Amino acid sequence: MARYTGPVCRLCRRERTKLYLKGERCFTMKCPVSENSDRQKRAFPPGMHGRDRQRQGSEYLTQLREKQKARRIYGLLEKQFRNLYEEASRRPGMTGTNLLQFLELRLDNVAYRAGWGASRAQARQFVRHGHVTINGKRVTIPSYRVRPGEVIGLKSVTRENFNVKRNLDVLDRNVPGWLETSENGFNVTVRVVPQREQIDESIHEQLIVELYSK
Ligand code: SF4
Repeated sequence: MARYTGPVCRLCRRERTKLYLKGERCFTMKCPVSENSDRQKRAFPPGMHGRDRQRQGSEYLTQLREKQKARRIYGLLEKQFRNLYEEASRRPGMTGTNLLQFLELRLDNVAYRAGWGASRAQARQFVRHGHVTINGKRVTIPSYRVRPGEVIGLKSVTRENFNVKRNLDVLDRNVPGWLETSENGFNVTVRVVPQREQIDESIHEQLIVELYSK
């Protein structure tokens, strides 16, 4: 499965905001986009002309940047993201909300929300490597869309994994209300499909809809 493998801080610098792609490091002074960073001198877009580049206030640019931000937060390539949008637009209800719900219900995102992975990339790796189960059965597809009532768990041997234990203890991430934890946080049950207010990513989904519906 294709995925972006380049430097991820570059993506945050491009969007001029923290996308939290590196886990613990994102909360330290080493983050180049952080206000208190000791690397503030790199808080400009990447590339040879990043420092000189002026932001143009076009409507298209605003929409494009919002789409790129959302895509990068969830770690999707353009084609996957576009396909998800197309599906969201065919569903009843608001397309933007549908899109965010689809993104949130991805298995790798649920593993991240549960606090097992320090970042979505790490959570995705747990899924790919067969550490995550759904209703007791191993599922290795990060894009699998979980459904209400399903129980997502970590395999018993993985519960002893140093990284998982550390992430649960140190990061101490709040599990969103649409998930319910059990077995010391090693199992989560999907209670409901998340509503927009339960998705705390600062994404203006309407801008994405406007971009794709041009
Ligand atoms: Fe983004 Fe994290 Fe890198 Fe900061 S440390 S630029 S939030 S990936």
